[in-house]
Amino acid sequence: MKNITILGSTGSIGTQALDVIRKNRKDFNVSALTTNSNIKILYDQVLEFNPDIVVIVDYNKYKEFKTMISNKDIKTQILFGEEGLIEAAIYDKADIILSSIVGIAGLKPTFEAVKKGKTIALANKETMVTAGRIITEMAKESNSTIIPVDSEHSAIFQCIGKERKYVSRIILTASGGPFRNKTLQELKSVTVSDALKHPNWNMGKKITVDSATLMNKGLEVIEARWLFDIESEYIDVIIHPESIIHSMVEFIDGVILAQLGIPDMRIPIKYSFTYPERTLGYVARLDFSKIKNLNFETPDVVRFPCLKLAYDALKSGDSSCIVLNGANEVAVNLFLQGKIGFTDIYYIVAGVLEKHINVEIKSIEDVLEIDNWARKIAYELYNKR
Ligand code: NDP
Ligand code: MG
Repeated sequence: MKNITILGSTGSIGTQALDVIRKNRKDFNVSALTTNSNIKILYDQVLEFNPDIVVIVDYNKYKEFKTMISNKDIKTQILFGEEGLIEAAIYDKADIILSSIVGIAGLKPTFEAVKKGKTIALANKETMVTAGRIITEMAKESNSTIIPVDSEHSAIFQCIGKERKYVSRIILTASGGPFRNKTLQELKSVTVSDALKHPNWNMGKKITVDSATLMNKGLEVIEARWLFDIESEYIDVIIHPESIIHSMVEFIDGVILAQLGIPDMRIPIKYSFTYPERTLGYVARLDFSKIKNLNFETPDVVRFPCLKLAYDALKSGDSSCIVLNGANEVAVNLFLQGKIGFTDIYYIVAGVLEKHINVEIKSIEDVLEIDNWARKIAYELYNKR
């Protein structure tokens, strides 16, 4: 029986992780759950999974939640704020911490869990994008194991197995998102609701928009750089609209291994929980007689320049990756609020990166300082438009 803590249990990954646990109750127990403010969903989760700890980051929602649950006979400890998140992240009884908060908000609790030597199931890619070097160095020091949940990185992790020293290239697949066939002109007028219609995956809003700009793939290139300790020139991206091949690894002898399956995040989530074992899966199986074609295209960085921005940031240095991420979080939020157009996301991120001179990053505090700067400049660029 493994005790699982879910940071961000009310989101897309969090709720799918609870579905995995629901279907495997004799293997997994829930130790802690956290939300930013979604106390309605959290309430049902607490009654169903009876965790030892829950955290509501928003203080007013925390107070509301305490009232909501006061007549229930539960022993769950209820905490709030960032301190609460960290307490959940380092909770002694937890065996696995699923890091599935969205954005850089997930960084500190994930870092604390790594520092404590926990096993991390990592969905929150922004942690690796902004602090990959610090996190991987700390993991070595504390003996923390990081198991990727992001479908591409789970695929690569599985393909590599114990053969890291023979890897010559990583090939990340990308669906291409909802705008794969749109012209540059058409991209200027796409709406928020168009961007939120992902062809293959049902995910949180931020990552869905990132998938539409291909920034998501850019963030994944940086995530792969740190997870697998490989330089960016050995990481390729290929558009594969069917999302059947989740990624591939090429070895020095020219052999390529790929991991295939239907696009369902519960597969990599469950694998991160059962690793190094595999257990019976309750998801649909691939039926090759129904798959007519597997297609591949080179990504078009003229229509989707965010992918190139990410490669450039990785070349430029660690602080540029923090800036890329922070500016992107602001720009995606502005787009979701209807305040900027889809193609403005790129201009804001590129504009902030242009003003940044790479600096050395030594600590999580340094990361957060650069992140704050990037956000401030992103808002300035928006206000000046
Ligand atoms: P969602 O937006 O669906 O969920 C995010 C979760 O984080 C929610 O529980 C949310 O709480 C919580 N949260 C948001 N902001 C804060 C904050 N400031 N402090 C604390 N908690 C917060 O995101 P996803 O589940 O889609 O994505 C989570 C992470 O996993 C992302 O990093 C994403 O890139 C990655 N990922 C997601 C995939 C997917 O299929 N969804 C696939 C691969 C990776 P509340 O409900 O209160 O807002
Ligand atoms: Mg992915």
